[in-house]
This record gives sequence, structure tokens and C-alpha cells, in this order.
Amino acid sequence: MNDVREAARKLSEKFPLSYWREHDKDPGKYPWEFVKAFAAAGWMGIMMPEEVGGMNLGLSEAAILMQEIAASGAGMSGASAIHFYVFPPAPILKHGSEEMKRRLLPQLAKGEHLMAFGVTEPTAGVDTSRIKTRAEKKGDRWVINGQKVWSTNAQNANKYLILARTSPRDEKRPLDGMTLFFADMDRKHCDVRVIDKLGRAAIDSNEVFIDGLEVPEENVIGEVGKGFHYLLDGLNPERVVVATECIGIGRAALKLATKYANERVIFDRPIGKNQAVAHPLAEAWMRLEAADKVAHHAAMLFDAGQPCGAESNTAKFLGADAGWQAADQAMQTHGGYAYAKEYHIERLWREVRLLRLAPVSQEMVCNFISNKVLGLPKSY
Ligand SMILES: Cc1cc2nc3c(=O)[nH]c(=O)nc-3n(C[C@H](O)[C@H](O)[C@H](O)COP(=O)(O)OP(=O)(O)OC[C@H]3O[C@@H](n4cnc5c(N)ncnc54)[C@H](O)[C@@H]3O)c2cc1C
Repeated sequence: MNDVREAARKLSEKFPLSYWREHDKDPGKYPWEFVKAFAAAGWMGIMMPEEVGGMNLGLSEAAILMQEIAASGAGMSGASAIHFYVFPPAPILKHGSEEMKRRLLPQLAKGEHLMAFGVTEPTAGVDTSRIKTRAEKKGDRWVINGQKVWSTNAQNANKYLILARTSPRDEKRPLDGMTLFFADMDRKHCDVRVIDKLGRAAIDSNEVFIDGLEVPEENVIGEVGKGFHYLLDGLNPERVVVATECIGIGRAALKLATKYANERVIFDRPIGKNQAVAHPLAEAWMRLEAADKVAHHAAMLFDAGQPCGAESNTAKFLGADAGWQAADQAMQTHGGYAYAKEYHIERLWREVRLLRLAPVSQEMVCNFISNKVLGLPKSY
């Protein structure tokens, strides 16, 4: 585990804060050099088996890898760039046919495919059962029509993992009847429009209008109609890793803040000598440590094949809150200079805020805990 931490830290450190500031400009610049460096070191296949070129490591190691990337100051600009190789392929790994795995996984492990991931739709929001994108069977091909929103990476992606309805919504089993497709991002049938957004400009987010996109039968992942359930399998690992990414960003912000609090002299003393400055930073550190313990515990349970839904959701909730509080406190510590981009705090602050909204909102985590852990009536 320490080897992963050390290696991830060393590689991330080659990309200083100035690199990320440069890529965060409008329009953002995709961090290809960073992606290529991690791909060359084999990290894209961290959780894939060795026979397809992966490292065959567990979630515990992946969580550390992503945490170190975020903590280097790369924040979500760096973490998202690698995260999208590690997690979206999970349904292929678990439910794809042997032929599909042999065909796709080696290239994914090498970082040779850039994938976008299309679940969210404008009118469905967090109620995925209401998606309207449809796939219809025509001979040995499926034809997809519909609209996705927030598809990360779609500007550059050559592959698109799409969830589409293959049978109408059934009130009794609303989450059945959706299918996962591994499609080519064929620009003749996918009109991709970038979304102008608050943070993480380096990694594009997009609306995608899909018109007659054809997918051969062999690129259906698992069984038709079970796509949503396959996504659920990947949710716990993703929540754990999002938690450790948030904690990483919180640590990066705290590192900048403590340096500043030691160096900035006002009223003839470093500002960090004032407890009004020091204590909230101490509190932020403690919250990050506590969230980290829950996240690593959840990862350990997952790697041991044990249920970890409550722990993974709790980790995501606590990690996102602790990361956000640390970044906000780092901003307060920097006073007016927090607003200046050269201090890097404002970028981390914008980036970590995202993780209270996505990939799953704090409210949906509370819904899960209320219903599945506390046994309260289902509200979603
Ligand atoms: C930068 C970014 C990148 C993203 N990348 C991707 C991607 O690559 N692929 C992809 O498919 N999606 C992606 N998403 C989408 C993301 O997962 C969604 O934004 C998220 O699911 C929320 O959907 P929504 O904005 O439509 O919220 P809505 O469904 O409109 O909800 C709005 C608010 O109401 C709350 N709410 C709604 N219903 C309930 C309820 N029953 N109980 C309590 N609270 C409720 C929600 O929690 C939320 O806070 C991304 C989003 C962002 C911002």
C-alpha cells in the first residue's frame, strides 16, 4: 500500500500547481501529458487482472492512488482524468463476455481508449429510471436515439458507455429495462456541446445529442435490460474513491493554508498564532482524518468481498463535507489573496464543491442511509 502511495505521489509531483492552473483556463486544456504519464506507468489498469495487462490490485490501492493524485494539488482536474479509466470499465470487467473482455480491456488498461460515460439526462436527474434515451434492435445492431447531459470527456472520447432504455418503464420494476452499451463516439451521430461550468475546466463536461447511433450486438454489456443493476455494482467502489479524492483535495488545501498561516505576518505575528485561524484548520484536519478512516474501512470490506454499502455511502458523505470544509477554511486563511488564482486555493475550492453534487448528491446518500440502514420509508 505504501508503495502505491509513494509511486503515485512521486509521479503526481512532476505536475506542479502551475501546470493545473494553466490547464484550468477558459477554454480548459485537457491534461494529456498527465494522463500519458500515468498510462505509461500502468496505473489505468490498477484494478484489472494481469491477463489483460492490469495490476490486479484492490480498491484499497485504487483509493490511495486517487487520493495522492488529488492531494498533490492536481485536485479534480487530475483525479477525474485518471478516475475515468479506472471506474467506468467496471461493468465490462464484471459482466462483459469473455470475448468482449479480451477485445476491450487490454486497450483500456493501457489508456488507449478515452471513454465518456452517459447516464445522466436533463429531464431524469437523479431518478435514473426516467431516462428517455432509447435503443432499438435492427437486425444484428442496436440504434440509439436520445440526449445525455454532463457526459465528462465527450469532447475527446473515442468510446461512449451509454445507458439506454430497451423496454418501457414498468412502474413495478422501474429500474429494469435499461441496457448498457459500449459505443463508438461516432461524431456523425453524436452532437457534443461543451458546458461552460464553475470548475474543472481541464476536463470537459458536455451535452450529447444522440441521433441514430449504431452499436453492434457484441457491444452490449451483459444482458439486455439489466444495465442499471450493473451500474449499481460499481457504485460502492466509486463512492469510496470519490471520498478519498475529496480528502486528498482537503489535504492539499490544508497544506497551502498552514504554510500561508506560518508565513503571513499581520499585527507583528504570523496569522496562524491566532486561534481563530489555527483552530478551524485543526478541526478541518481532524474531519479529514475521520473521513479517511471510514473510506479505507469501506475499501477493505469491499476487497474482502463483504457488504459495504453503508460504509461506502458514509465515506462519500463525510469525505465530500470534510474536503469542502478544509478548502473553505483554507480560503478564509488566505484572506483576500484566496481570490487570486496564483494562490491556487480558489481552484481547489471550486473543484471540491462539485463532489457534494456529483457523482451522487449528499441528499441521495442520506436517502440511502435513511432507508437501507435506518429502515425509514423509501423517499426516492
Ligand atoms: C461536472 C460534472 C460532471 C458529471 N459527469 C457525469 C458523467 O460523466 N456522466 C453522467 O452520466 N453524469 C455526470 N454528471 C451528472 C451528475 O451525476 C448529476 O448532476 C447528478 O446525478 C445530479 O443530477 P441533476 O443535476 O439533474 O439533479 P436533480 O435530479 O435535478 O436534483 C436536484 C437536487 O435535488 C435533490 N433531490 C432530487 N430528488 C431528491 C429526493 N428524492 N430526495 C432528496 N433530494 C433530492 C438532488 O440531490 C439535488 O441536490 C456530472 C455532473 C457534473 C456537475
